[in-house]
Amino acid sequence: MIVQFGSARIELVLGDITVQRVDVIVNAANAQLAGGGGVDGAIHLAAGPEIMEELQRRYPDGCPTGSAVVTSGGNLHSRYVFHAVGPIWQGGGIKESGLLESAYQICLSLAEKHTCRTLAFPSISTGVYRYPVDLAAEIALRTVAVKLETSDQLDLVRFVLFDQGTFGSYARVLETMLI
Ligand code: ADP
Repeated sequence: MIVQFGSARIELVLGDITVQRVDVIVNAANAQLAGGGGVDGAIHLAAGPEIMEELQRRYPDGCPTGSAVVTSGGNLHSRYVFHAVGPIWQGGGIKESGLLESAYQICLSLAEKHTCRTLAFPSISTGVYRYPVDLAAEIALRTVAVKLETSDQLDLVRFVLFDQGTFGSYARVLETMLI
């Protein structure tokens, strides 16, 4: 599914983010930047040990929730990996939505700063961090769409969704944004 926003596109695909050919791949990291399971484990496995060494060297204190840091792409087909830290879902009462929005916004700003035109996001926080996927999809897509209306740097934001249920949630939300 592809939708035009301003001069750029939002694309939804079902698949594995580690094989995407884009300028930057976003990782759903933890605040310690310590590596983990899920998409984080898959990215480190595919990228090789170089990006973990870079994380430890450049960001020994980790990364606050709602923010993101930059490394090279290691062995991936991308120039950079942005390691974004989404919130752990605790019921919605502790500003999770603002933190999730901020994680996406910071990645989009970093993409502009590093002159990236194409970017791939996973569904941040909706795995081990248990953020309800319908709510997360709305924040992710709205935040990206707002940015694309005014950005002349970005050409493509691709959401790479790992399972049919997650893909379906994002597709439903994106459809409602077209009306
Ligand atoms: P978080 O801790 O932020 O919740 P997870 O990695 O547990 O991060 O899950 C985030 C999303 O990434 C989930 O929908 C999960 O199914 C998905 N995911 C796992 N592996 C991959 C992959 N290789 N490519 C894209 N998405 C993936």
